[in-house]
Amino acid sequence: MKQKIGILVLGCPRNLVDAEALAGRLNFKDYSIVDDIAQAGVVLVNTCAFIQEAKRESIDAILDLVQLKKQGKLKKIIVYGCLAQRYKNLAKDLPEVDAFVGTLGLNHESKRFALTPKHYAYLKICEGCVNQCSYCVIPKIKGSLESLDTPAIIRKVKRFNRQKISELNIIGQDITGFGMDASGESQLTGLLRKIISNVPDIGWIRLLYLNPQRIASELLELVASTDRVCKYIDLPIQHINNRILKLMNRAITKEEIIALIKKIRKSIPGVYLRTSLIVGFPSETEKEFNELLEFVKAAKFQRLGAFIYSREEGTPAYNFKGQIPQQIKQERFDKIMSEQRQIAAGVNAKFLSQTITVLVEEKQYGGYIGRSQGDAPEVDGVVYINTKQSLRIGKFIQVKITGTLEYDLVGEVAL
Ligand code: SF4
Repeated sequence: MKQKIGILVLGCPRNLVDAEALAGRLNFKDYSIVDDIAQAGVVLVNTCAFIQEAKRESIDAILDLVQLKKQGKLKKIIVYGCLAQRYKNLAKDLPEVDAFVGTLGLNHESKRFALTPKHYAYLKICEGCVNQCSYCVIPKIKGSLESLDTPAIIRKVKRFNRQKISELNIIGQDITGFGMDASGESQLTGLLRKIISNVPDIGWIRLLYLNPQRIASELLELVASTDRVCKYIDLPIQHINNRILKLMNRAITKEEIIALIKKIRKSIPGVYLRTSLIVGFPSETEKEFNELLEFVKAAKFQRLGAFIYSREEGTPAYNFKGQIPQQIKQERFDKIMSEQRQIAAGVNAKFLSQTITVLVEEKQYGGYIGRSQGDAPEVDGVVYINTKQSLRIGKFIQVKITGTLEYDLVGEVAL
């Protein structure tokens, strides 16, 4: 009888792509991949070790599986990914785990076993990172930048096109670094052009994780001039104060970030600008935090995620003076997110009575849930579609917006 394997994916979409590659190989080797972990004899956990919270989530998940094993409901537990890569002595603390495997290398050819809904997929174009942000452990876990070779990428996207997916999300640690390991310069624009011409049937192509240091004008022009490329720019800036940006080893200044945002909004009218911020970085003063808060108020990002600084051993910032107490970090996080909630509500209010293209995702709440091109999977809002009609999951429809919430929209099928 085929061994039933369960796959538990924690962390980011990059981890999910690794799990899809592994599941693809196992499926190819005649193992049966089961959705329900409780049905599995063997469970593979793809872990995350980016920040404290993620590590805690990974450990908790492993301990839950250890309980299942002790109850005889599970034969084997295999832990892989960033936690196993970063902490080599886990076996001592978790003897019930059968194997610890580090991160899996970039997968140039493996057949993917979809762990996302069938209508969208992630394409990881590079692994590791070309940057050395002082708070980040990823370069230590994933190593320096390694780009997937272009022919392998084109083979993958042609396969996605044949599979008739509707949305392709292009990811990496920092996709603007693509190709720098070979040529020293970003090759992202050229790659995107090739991808566009090889996926004529894919409705949305979305770029995620773009480092603000390397946003090329021709990339913005290509995004602006290609209907199927989402008018969505994911631009983690992390902070805006020049002293803090320097301490973070982010090779960009406040003035350059502000000029870049202006340029992006001018080049791509109606663009959804997403960013990520870190609050409570070591030695961040109240004044510097308020500078960030005032910037958030002024910039009015369409989408924004904030993180509380996590002191990670092995990073330069771990030894920085002026570590901020947790309570103050939490207060700063709350202030940013409460400001952003109002901004998000204001952004959404502009869509009232407009008709927008929506990707239908699932049936729910007496209707359906979908996403606009301004909503990346799992991290942004949704569109609630009130309808008695039967809609096809994974298809694009026109939705007239009848109501707006802070992060979500409500609408009906446009006639
Ligand atoms: S760009 Fe991102 S992944 Fe790379 S070092 Fe900085 S924070 Fe880490």
